[in-house]
Parts: sequence; C-alpha cells; structure tokens
Amino acid sequence: TPLHCIVKLGGSAITCKNELETINENNLSTVSSQLRQGMILGPSQGMDWSRRPGSLDIPTVVDEVDDRLASNPKKFLVVHGAGSFGHFQASKSGVHKGGLSRPLVKSGFVATRISVTTLNLEIIRALAREGIPSIGMSPFSCGWTTSERNIAVADTSTVVKAIDAGFVPVLHGDAVLDNSQGCTILSGDVIISHLAEQLRPDYVVFLTDVFGVYDRPPTEPDAVLLREIGVREDGSWSVLQPKLQDTSRQVEITVAAHDTTGGMVTKISEAAMIAKLGIDVYIVKAATDHSARALKGKLTDDIPDGWLG
Ligand code: ADP
Repeated sequence: TPLHCIVKLGGSAITCKNELETINENNLSTVSSQLRQGMILGPSQGMDWSRRPGSLDIPTVVDEVDDRLASNPKKFLVVHGAGSFGHFQASKSGVHKGGLSRPLVKSGFVATRISVTTLNLEIIRALAREGIPSIGMSPFSCGWTTSERNIAVADTSTVVKAIDAGFVPVLHGDAVLDNSQGCTILSGDVIISHLAEQLRPDYVVFLTDVFGVYDRPPTEPDAVLLREIGVREDGSWSVLQPKLQDTSRQVEITVAAHDTTGGMVTKISEAAMIAKLGIDVYIVKAATDHSARALKGKLTDDIPDGWLG
C-alpha cells in the first residue's frame, strides 16, 4: 500500500518552547488522537478514548485497536522537531557548526541526542496509548549523514520496511555526522522533504504553533495569514489570496531568525519543494479543528486559514 501521509509534529507545537525539556501534554494527546482518527478515517465508534489510563497498557491497546486501526489503516509516517528538547544543548555547544574534535561539541552532540531521543520516546508512548503502532527511528542510527549540511546519505529502506510491516515510523530532527564539518543538526523539516520525495505520500501536514504562514512574523501587529501559496515548477512562489493579489506589490515573506535549524524559513522552502512534486502541503496549527481536518486530508474542499499547496 502506498504511503498516505507524512506528518510533522512541530517542536513548538508539542513542547513548551520556553521551558526546558517540557512536553505540551495537552497538544500531544490531542494530536495523537487526531492522528489516529486520520489513520482510520472515521470516528472512534462511540468509544471514549479520552478515559484511557495514562500508562501503556499493552494488552488493552492491542485488543481495542485490532478492529479499527489494525484492519486497514492508512499508512502514516511521523517526523517531529525538537522544541525545548535538544535545542538548548545544540546551540550552546554549537553542534550545528561542526567540529567534533572539540570536547564541547562532542559532549553537546551526545547531550542533544539524549534529549531528542527522550522526546521521541515520549511521543511514541503518546501515540501507542492511542493504539498507533509507532516505532522510533533516529536518523543518526539509520546511518543518515550530511555533507555541507545537506543530506548526503539517507537510505529510506528501513523506514519503508517498517511501513510495509504496518508500523508508523517516528523520526526526528537529530544530530548527525557531516562529511565536511564533522557534525551538524539535521532538521525535521529537511527530513520531511527528503522522505516526501522518496516515498511520495498523498499529502504532507506540518503541525505548528501558529495558524500557518504569515507575510511577516505573526508577532507583528499587521501580519497577514496567507491562505494559499502556489509553487511554480522553477520553485518560485506566489500567494494566491485575493486581498494580496490586488496589490501590485510582490509579497515578501519575512521571518524572525531564531534557531539552529532555520525555523520558518526552512519550513517554507522545504514545503515549497514538496509542493513542487505535486504533493499537497498543509501548514496548520496543532490540536485545532484545522489539524484534525488536515490529518484526514480534508482541507481542500473548503480552505481554512493557513495552507500551502
Ligand atoms: P515548528 O517547531 O512548529 O516546526 P518553528 O518554531 O521552527 O516551527 O517555526 C514556527 C515559528 O515560526 C512560529 O512560532 C512563528 O512565531 C515563527 N514565524 C516567523 N516568521 C513567520 C511567518 N512569516 N509565518 C509564520 N510563522 C513565522
């Protein structure tokens, strides 16, 4: 069966960005439930999943899921960002700038991986509680490497095998080895576009902490949410939005520079690369009605705020 959907769980959406190594439990559980609904494309048949115990009760999870999730689920793949996990460790030690021979960078590399894999495990747990058969897969451990910070080797065969076996692989932004500078940070958004190109899903959903892409940082008072961004063959974009099209000025999307992996700039350019392949891309706020509909692939009929395709 072909891959249905690749989902990016934005670090900003599933963690509390300003609190070190803190998960946004509400968002994570809502998103996990929406993901399950997207996979089975239907309501949970009257079952009150919200009353599930917080622990991982394996027999219960497996039994209850057999009918719905295990019968014929849509194939999904998840990639998450780091948010308040890994970010601090990476930027403090300069893992993204390379130089593994320096003790600070090497220990920062280890600390970053401890942090992001801890988050990965928590996400796997949250998904498993919903009955989603998720498997954590680290880019570093899959042998993925970069060269001048671009993906050099990223064999997807293990990911494909996991999908074929009925699992939902959960990859993440990771510290990886880099041929030219020793090491770097491989962002979740770059992983997504690589996987989209290789695996050609029906659509890709980016879940983030804002309603979508704005013409400037959303913290600015006059920021306008862009409903649809059309991407041409040559990779150039135009904003398909009546209000903005009327004006002759070219819409420049500006973003705030902030993190080790490029933030919104990376996200928009990776999303544009995916859209160029003819794959619809939605950038929506996590744990909202928009994210529920995007995960079901049902946003196109009536475009709400914030999608890119
Ligand atoms: P995530 O962690 O969800 O992958 P990032 O934190 O990397 O996402 O990027 C999302 C953040 O980018 C938002 O919180 C927002 O404040 C910021 N941002 C900066 N410029 C823009 C823009 N033009 N449109 C939307 N968001 C923007």
